[in-house]
Amino acid sequence: MIKTKTLVEVSARHVHLSKKDFEKLFGKNAELASVKQLSQPKEFASDEKVIIINGSKKMENVRILGPFRKQSQAEIALTDAYHLNLSPLPKIKVSGDLANTTKVLVKGPKSSLKIPCIIAQRHLHCSDKEAKKIGLKNNQRISVGIEGVREVTFNNIVVRISPDYRLSLHLDTDEGNAAGIMGKTFGRIIK
Ligand SMILES: [Zn+2]
Repeated sequence: MIKTKTLVEVSARHVHLSKKDFEKLFGKNAELASVKQLSQPKEFASDEKVIIINGSKKMENVRILGPFRKQSQAEIALTDAYHLNLSPLPKIKVSGDLANTTKVLVKGPKSSLKIPCIIAQRHLHCSDKEAKKIGLKNNQRISVGIEGVREVTFNNIVVRISPDYRLSLHLDTDEGNAAGIMGKTFGRIIK
């Protein structure tokens, strides 16, 4: 059994938008500016936020992450989906796999539109170099153990390899809270 240390990051609910959808929601002249670089080199958090609405239920201040993507998507935790009273519930899927999942209404300052919504499948970002060193293959499933009072091992983590990635396990807020994650955390990759 090989054990390698990895950064563990918890992603709060957010949306990715296509340029076209962003312009619909924010206007033609709006810009998606970076306010914070994320651990994955090309990814950033913007200051622009939308509201996710389902009937009388809503979640405000849902941040847009950049850059623009080909397809818009909302990523929320299962707790958020219950709060929004979504039916059917969104599917647990790898980011970008948007077939047969629930759509949600997102509202910006100019207009609103419906976009697919998923609960993100827990995943490990990894560069080609790191993958070679650790011995990981794209789409392989691994486990990561996290120590602490709520010590837990997450199984069924999808490995996603790209030259643009850096080693990091991405969990959603339900998973992060279950593991008692507060502040900078590392886990151990178990293959
Ligand atoms: Zn990720």
